[in-house]
Amino acid sequence: MSKKGNFYIATPIYYVNDRPHLGHAYTTVSADVVARFHRMLGENVLFLTGTDEHGSKVEKKAEEVGKTPKELCDENSGHFQMLFDRLSISNDDFIRTTEDSHKESVKIFMSELYEKDSFYEDRYEGLYCTGCERFITEKELVEGKCPDHKTYPEKITEKNYFFKLKEYLPKVKELIARGELQVEPESRRKEVLGLLDNEVLDDFSVSRESVKWGIPLPFDDSQVIYVWVEALQFYISALGYGRDNEKFEQFWPVDVHVIGKDIIKFHAIYWPAMLLAAGLPLPKKIYAHGYFTINGDKMSKTIGNVIDTNDLIDSFGTDATRYLLLSQFPFGQDGDIKADKFIEQYNADLANGISNLLHRTLSMTEKYFNGITPTMAEEEHLSLLPGGVEALWNNYKNDLNELKVEKALSHVTMLVKVADGYIEQTKPWELAKEDQEKLANVMYTLLEFNRHISFMLYPFMPDTAEKMQTALGVQYEEHTSFDELIKWGTLERGTKIKKDEPLFMRREN
Ligand SMILES: [Zn+2]
Repeated sequence: MSKKGNFYIATPIYYVNDRPHLGHAYTTVSADVVARFHRMLGENVLFLTGTDEHGSKVEKKAEEVGKTPKELCDENSGHFQMLFDRLSISNDDFIRTTEDSHKESVKIFMSELYEKDSFYEDRYEGLYCTGCERFITEKELVEGKCPDHKTYPEKITEKNYFFKLKEYLPKVKELIARGELQVEPESRRKEVLGLLDNEVLDDFSVSRESVKWGIPLPFDDSQVIYVWVEALQFYISALGYGRDNEKFEQFWPVDVHVIGKDIIKFHAIYWPAMLLAAGLPLPKKIYAHGYFTINGDKMSKTIGNVIDTNDLIDSFGTDATRYLLLSQFPFGQDGDIKADKFIEQYNADLANGISNLLHRTLSMTEKYFNGITPTMAEEEHLSLLPGGVEALWNNYKNDLNELKVEKALSHVTMLVKVADGYIEQTKPWELAKEDQEKLANVMYTLLEFNRHISFMLYPFMPDTAEKMQTALGVQYEEHTSFDELIKWGTLERGTKIKKDEPLFMRREN
């Protein structure tokens, strides 16, 4: 497809002290949908993900399991990469923070901040939660323990370098309030502005003295850079910041950071402040999705409702797993994953829905037109879709531009229902006996519906979309523009269809 603008999207890099869980899959598949959609628009997309590998948590975990930190990182980073391959994630690169290129850019960025006088040295005395990888205040403790990790924090006294966060907060606040730095959805924007209003944020430490597993500070090698301070810099180190500015200038600022809401403060406040200090442009948008429960409960080993993404892929396949994850609740909100309804939903939406519609359409085309796409005399779809297919595509496009992932997907399910209703209403098997011209109209309309469904599905279910297009005899041309793709009636008459096995077979409980 013809190249338009550049579009840079990134997920956070995931911490390797453990294996990937369903939340990682959810964030990454969602970002993948947005990346694929922008490629479909003809944009030059850069989509990045990766793993965050330093810090005392990795150091400790490695010691526990009798490995070196690097061995643990290689192993767990490998699990992320394998999972993302199985989920058909189309990332252009996978960044590991233990790579030399990342370390080099980080040192350049930290030196830059040092030269601009954004750091000061201080002794830190306080409590530290290794689970959180951060200093924790007395006020936050519940019965003396970290509320998230239920462990006692350590008392730590050490020399640290601090970032002058407070100097940059008024500017960050102003940019968010003005909408120049977009924080979405609205509930997250309010949360961030609330934090900025209440002045609860303090300068933060950017280095650790007692940790060994990390990147040394370029101006004081008795210290390693605080793991999350360094991890955030992946977004620019991956573009060759300070090393090869061509890619950096092409893609920075990032169009959207897709993250979970637990790390909103780091992305919407700390990261922009650091960029301001370095004199770099800020991200255009930060989009935080919500938390989810499984069948109404928080996912936990004790309840026994932990879902392993690999098991889901084993039982449903890649595309259906993507579909089931994304169709549960509006992206950006908290919601519930109704895993106990997965089979039901799979049968209703995929086997009896998308798959059955295509299969019926192809079977009838074989039976009535020897498998050749018939010529249409009249445009049939206009009475079925108010505003035509164009209006539907507009909604779809607007929704995905606003990262309303689940809503965009619901247009596809709707279109399948319209097409199913159309079959029931027109009864092609009766037309076959009495009205060949009308039958040709109906069959062409159905084939064309399937073509539109396949393209709308592409960002969500890439493999299924491709199978549908092969079955319909649709040729993907490099130069075909998005506007051309979404026009009604571009399915060529006389095209030979190729009926294969159904896309999805019904399954029993
Ligand atoms: Zn903690």
